[in-house]
Amino acid sequence: MVGLLVLAALAAGVWSRGEQQEARSPILKDRDAYMATACELPTQWVRLIDRGLRSATDSHDLVVQLPPQNSMGGFTSMHSGPFGFLQDVPLVFYGPGHVPAQGHVRLRSEVTLADVAPTFGWLLGFDFPSHGRPLKSVLERGERAPKLIMTVVIDGGGWNALERWPDAWPNLARMIEEGVNLEGAIVGSSPSVTPASHATLSTGVFPKDHGVTAIQNRHGDGSIVGSFTRTPGELGPDVRPRLNLRSPTFADLWDIETGNEAEVGMLSYFNYPLAMLGQGSAWPGGDDDVLGLQEDMQWKTTPAFYSLPRYARSISPRDDIAALDRQDGRVDEQWMGHLIDEKLDATPALARWINRTTKAILLNEEFGSDEITDLFFINYKTPDRVGHRWGMDTPEQRAAISSVDDALGDLIDFMDRHVGSEGYVLLVTADHGQRPLSEVRDGWSINGEKLLADVNAAFDKTDDGRGIIEATSPTLFFLDEEQLAKNDVHAEDVASFLSNYTISDNVSSQADIPQGLRSRKKERVFSAVFPSRNVDEVLSCADAGDQ
Ligand SMILES: [Zn+2]
Repeated sequence: MVGLLVLAALAAGVWSRGEQQEARSPILKDRDAYMATACELPTQWVRLIDRGLRSATDSHDLVVQLPPQNSMGGFTSMHSGPFGFLQDVPLVFYGPGHVPAQGHVRLRSEVTLADVAPTFGWLLGFDFPSHGRPLKSVLERGERAPKLIMTVVIDGGGWNALERWPDAWPNLARMIEEGVNLEGAIVGSSPSVTPASHATLSTGVFPKDHGVTAIQNRHGDGSIVGSFTRTPGELGPDVRPRLNLRSPTFADLWDIETGNEAEVGMLSYFNYPLAMLGQGSAWPGGDDDVLGLQEDMQWKTTPAFYSLPRYARSISPRDDIAALDRQDGRVDEQWMGHLIDEKLDATPALARWINRTTKAILLNEEFGSDEITDLFFINYKTPDRVGHRWGMDTPEQRAAISSVDDALGDLIDFMDRHVGSEGYVLLVTADHGQRPLSEVRDGWSINGEKLLADVNAAFDKTDDGRGIIEATSPTLFFLDEEQLAKNDVHAEDVASFLSNYTISDNVSSQADIPQGLRSRKKERVFSAVFPSRNVDEVLSCADAGDQ
């Protein structure tokens, strides 16, 4: 279960806490040295970072911005940042009778995932409060509202992954031709990670406001929690929807608007996309919407807030795995040389299992059968998992994207037959792109233990087994407030130290620097590091610098 370990490691903090070193360097005198580099960040990066931060609860934590080529401790496939290759996502609306055929359309203003919920609000004549704006030009508000809105997120299906395999998605290409894709659409905030992006899509506001910032979140009580679980990195159905999520989702308010007459449901392999659906009965007045999350190769739910019919629980992925296994003519439990059982989420079997279950739910719960618009949401995880395991340039990735595209074709066929060819709107988008390996080749992979040890050597005078940095993620370092106080150190000191931290500082011996990077050993490891509470200041100085 390497993937789960990687996920757990990512979630629990990229690195373990380093050992304290004997030698100590003096605390920096110039507390504001970090501002000089922070102000050089491109304004667009800072805008996206600002939208991704809850600076009230994160206030003493550090924003760490890597240049695109560098990575955290070996996680070459991470996909967290403001870079175009991670931000650019498809935003495809398809639905004969509701979406006029326009192909690729570029609007003059910015388009982000936050525009989706208000767009559906506008389509249904329902005033959904949001920071996004309705994309009125892509939809047609006819006499009849669609009976079903199906929202699909291809996890890790940003444009760079799709364009790497342009022949792998004929159904999506046809949806664009007969519908519309909003060219230039972006996620809209950094970090570009699954929980945050899905929450933006459904709430119409950014993480700064909806509260789901990342895989690890600084909770209001000071603890570090997962997005929907107390312990970061728990992936199963035991979720707490309101742990961080502070905004209602489109489905939450549509439930209320229709007196819970609307059918609402979602299937997703892990719980990270939970906010795409909403809070279920945890939202005042809401009912227990259908939710299926995978655990031990079964669909399960969180009965306190959601429901899952018995027949859906009994749909197993065994048949999909067996079919995939047989595909190459050999029954050996393998797909492209990998054992399928261990890696269901990284194989084409997942999308098939999701589709069989989705169709059973839509039929039995009578989604799309009356005039009240129903909502269903799907997250197809496979391209992301394949990206983390093998990268976006591999034949496995082509197969992953192709399996999702087959699933889209299957959904369209099904909805044409059961909801009516003019009865639905299908939205397809992605939560982030993927890290192209070509970007990593000339980059520095940070030695996390060395970095933590250096920070402690510089600032931690106490010998209590705790370090200055409590946990790390690819975009935020969580500082231990108590340790800062004990050592009379401020977030600004650590930010300045890390802002000037170089490749040469990050190795135990200069011989550890590969030949190709030796001439760059004085290069700073981060583009900038600054306390999250300074984000407004950084935004204005970066902006001034750009003009
Ligand atoms: Zn991922």
